[in-house]
Amino acid sequence: MPSEPTTRLCVYCGSNAGTSPSFAALAHQLGSSLAHRGIGLVYGGGRVGLMGVVADAALAAGGEVIGVITEQLVGAEVAHTGLTRIEVTDTMHARKARLSELADGFLVLPGGFGTLDEFAEALTWNQLGLVAKPVVLVDVDGFWTPMFDWMERAVDAGFVRSSHRLLAQHAHSVDEAIAMATAPVPDVGHKWIDRDVTPPRGTIIDSSALRGVARD
Ligand code: AMP
Repeated sequence: MPSEPTTRLCVYCGSNAGTSPSFAALAHQLGSSLAHRGIGLVYGGGRVGLMGVVADAALAAGGEVIGVITEQLVGAEVAHTGLTRIEVTDTMHARKARLSELADGFLVLPGGFGTLDEFAEALTWNQLGLVAKPVVLVDVDGFWTPMFDWMERAVDAGFVRSSHRLLAQHAHSVDEAIAMATAPVPDVGHKWIDRDVTPPRGTIIDSSALRGVARD
């Protein structure tokens, strides 16, 4: 029996395959490359769209694949039935929390609203210091270019610190993506939490003591 992987990466991607064959080709290459490197795949547990492609490719190459899916989606019969392990959660929130817990980093392939939600949560949890795990958008055909344009705009408009923008990494190949996702996360500081002034949990504080903590 092969030993358990020491590294697991979470892949977020579309539950549809998209209109260009480039998307499925990228998902296939990623699944198979993870398995060949002995890296475990953690993902949303579906058998449809790019999710199914990445899981099937990793399994075909002998990799470990753990799926985390909600009861509702199992009921809708979109769960993959051939995974190394599948975990079923009650809610989408619990699903994302469990995926985050299992993974050492996040790879985001093209996808729709669900993928965007998952990407944003991984990013904001890093921004808040709740996790320190690399987040990498894996590009093909310039799919993620508008997202990076938006991030620059959000920095210019003063909504995102320029250092936090570095939390979202942009890879243009599977090799680059895996290298980024297995490297230490960029040290960018956290959004509000100043470790020197954050009081112990449960402390009642005068709000004037917080002045200056939320500054950029
Ligand atoms: P999509 O990118 O919309 O095809 O969805 C990709 C993944 O996101 C699938 O695993 C969906 O189950 C999941 N998903 C869809 N909507 C949400 C949501 N509101 N919150 C969290 N995950 C979602």
